[in-house]
Amino acid sequence: MKRPTKSLKTAAAAGAALLALFSGAPGWSERAAAQQPAARGAANTDGLDVQKLRDNVYLIAGAGSNIVAQVGPIGVVLVDSGNTESAPRVLAAIRRITPLPVRYIINTSMDRDHVGGNQVLTASGLSILPGAVVAGAGLDDALVSNAGKASVLAHENVQTRMSEATGAAAYPFPLWPTKTFAFHAYSMYLNGEGFRIIHQPAAHTDGDVIVELRRNDVIVTGDVIDTTRFPMIDVARGGSVQGLLDALNRLMDMTIYNLPIQWNDDRTLLVPGHGRVYDKLDLLEYRDAITVVRDRVADLIKEGKNLQQVKAANPTLGYRSEYGTDRGEWTTDKFVETIFAELSKKPGPAAARVN
Ligand SMILES: [Zn+2]
Repeated sequence: MKRPTKSLKTAAAAGAALLALFSGAPGWSERAAAQQPAARGAANTDGLDVQKLRDNVYLIAGAGSNIVAQVGPIGVVLVDSGNTESAPRVLAAIRRITPLPVRYIINTSMDRDHVGGNQVLTASGLSILPGAVVAGAGLDDALVSNAGKASVLAHENVQTRMSEATGAAAYPFPLWPTKTFAFHAYSMYLNGEGFRIIHQPAAHTDGDVIVELRRNDVIVTGDVIDTTRFPMIDVARGGSVQGLLDALNRLMDMTIYNLPIQWNDDRTLLVPGHGRVYDKLDLLEYRDAITVVRDRVADLIKEGKNLQQVKAANPTLGYRSEYGTDRGEWTTDKFVETIFAELSKKPGPAAARVN
């Protein structure tokens, strides 16, 4: 390995060389790289930021939702597909990683910025056994579905919500999953990777899954974690604050930190629906922040405070600048209103369940 030397003409070149130096070695570099998407994305001109998280796992950011690409001998398994507008650029980014086809997409929810690329990306790809379309009977429907294109897996509630949506909110049929499951979890082995897809019944929506890449120890959380704002609770589509906390507690159970050897950087990586990659310590702080805000609102309700008084008491104090936002449709105010509405429906907050 070469060290950057004085012969490098600019600081930018030195920075790039340092990044290149770090990128080859496991260690602190992974976390540093994951947290500095701008630095890594500098080479891209298409607005997307592609980060290598593990030897064969990539994060593609900037296409609406985060997209994770796991690459192996049969091609590419994607978790989420971003928004529709970005799909051609996402496909180009995948092509820069590998010439192999997209084989499978797993959707973490029915949100448009997570499923919008399904059509373009499945059409560019290939079923796992394309010949099975003709051969037909006796094979798993994950192999034979979607007319030779790549398959899309999601929880059944994703398909239900998509099929219920009408008018401007309707989902074009090519965005729908081609395979759904209705039970707690679905597992499969593809590309040398064990994928565990675990339903979170009422978190961000009622169709959320978290996707664990067991061999690589990466967990794609969908919008159960959103590092750009407080987690969006889509009550109209079955989301709940308690369900979201349940999901975060489940993630705490599944995630491993770099203990007891603290100078070793091995750790579980958590890829959120939006924003930077988390580790267990980040998750702990995020889970605690949401728990504390929920508990503060619960206490204020017990004191008989109404929504306006609860807001005036500033229950997100200490967390607002780190997690909150006043821009966009999901503001800190909305988050507090949603907690208030959920807790006001019940005699008191249910005890946090660790499932
Ligand atoms: Zn999202």
